[in-house]
Amino acid sequence: MIPFSPPRIDDRTIEAVSEVLKSGWITTGPKTKLFEKEISAYCGVKTTVAVNSWTMGMQVLLHWWGIGEGDEVILPAYTYCASANVIIHAGAKPVLVDINSEDFNLNTEAVRKAITPNTKAILAVDIGGFPCDYDKLKSLINEPEIKNQFSASNSLQEQLGRILLLSDAAHSFGALMNDQKAAALADVSTYSFHAVKNLTTAEGGALCFNMPEGFDHDEIYRQMCVKILHGQNKDALAKTQKGNWRYDVEEPGFKCNMTDIQAAIGLVELDRYQENLDRRKTIFNLYDVVFSTEEWAITPLHTSNSKSSSYHLYQIRIKDVSEDQRDAIIKEIFEQDVSVNVHFQPIPMLTAYKKRGYDIADYPEAYGKYAQMISLPVYFDLSDEQVETVIAAVKSAVVKVLG
Ligand SMILES: *Cc1c(COP(=O)(O)O)cnc(C)c1O
Repeated sequence: MIPFSPPRIDDRTIEAVSEVLKSGWITTGPKTKLFEKEISAYCGVKTTVAVNSWTMGMQVLLHWWGIGEGDEVILPAYTYCASANVIIHAGAKPVLVDINSEDFNLNTEAVRKAITPNTKAILAVDIGGFPCDYDKLKSLINEPEIKNQFSASNSLQEQLGRILLLSDAAHSFGALMNDQKAAALADVSTYSFHAVKNLTTAEGGALCFNMPEGFDHDEIYRQMCVKILHGQNKDALAKTQKGNWRYDVEEPGFKCNMTDIQAAIGLVELDRYQENLDRRKTIFNLYDVVFSTEEWAITPLHTSNSKSSSYHLYQIRIKDVSEDQRDAIIKEIFEQDVSVNVHFQPIPMLTAYKKRGYDIADYPEAYGKYAQMISLPVYFDLSDEQVETVIAAVKSAVVKVLG
């Protein structure tokens, strides 16, 4: 069976983890601090805070920004449930918008229509690793009329004076836009290092801050470290210093720090990330060469004048099929021992959100893409031969179902 997305674990990863286990320091410590610095350098952002998942990191971030009851956060209908769940947990309202026709990302004009005086943030999701239109989103939130209707409810929001632009970059570590890392284009870009993501720490995540001039990023880093550790003003490592036992709790905080065991995996992953990206790109090209000649296939957009993907998901679409036919094709592909996936069932199709009144009929572009989409395996250890097997399986499954 060709798996969908196994992690790349080899002797180097195992040695790095053993080293931490033997060191006597396994929770947040020197490895995590180094990992944060290296992420900032790689992404070209001002400061990075490592956390135990994207989800918890985002929850803390929304808390930091002061999002709560009565606030609205705009995000695409086409994303993983985590993007919307965190907004509900903050007590705010997820305002879903439809996506573009040419890619799977949120549509800027739909965002414009969704903005109200209650809009506190936009959460753009780089689906499949292809960056959103950050230029357009940035100019949108800076338009005088839109800035004027922004109503700040705390001093941070006052200082920014506009809607906060967040990037759900769970898929797009290393993606480029305008010759820089896409992470540097939003106010805060948020990564997931879950096992299936391009760069993994088993579970984990990072918040990369790139707030405008005037924001003190050392202070942001300090505040975030307090928030992710119960509100304590000293972490475990600081408390081990001689006589340094006393600490205070500044606020009732969260608990979602990254451990050095995770960071050790991440440091290895980051060190060899370019070869990972290169291999993914090669696999995308192998798929493209074949599928772009097939009448029934729509290949995913992964490069444009200003952008290039992190090649996270190869989301192929089968022209003119119904959702049921797509499901039948997937079943046939699995019959041939090839694992594929669907990214994603749009948020309004999930029970928790249907109950809240969201209706997929309001998001035709998201539904259309979802119904015809299949994600194919892409990962460093996938061989050329396995790619051929995947291609053959997809082709024969399509022929079998569509005749
Ligand atoms: C994986 C994923 C998340 C959640 O990441 P965790 O680290 O598992 O919390 C959020 N958004 C998107 C788009 C994802 O794919």
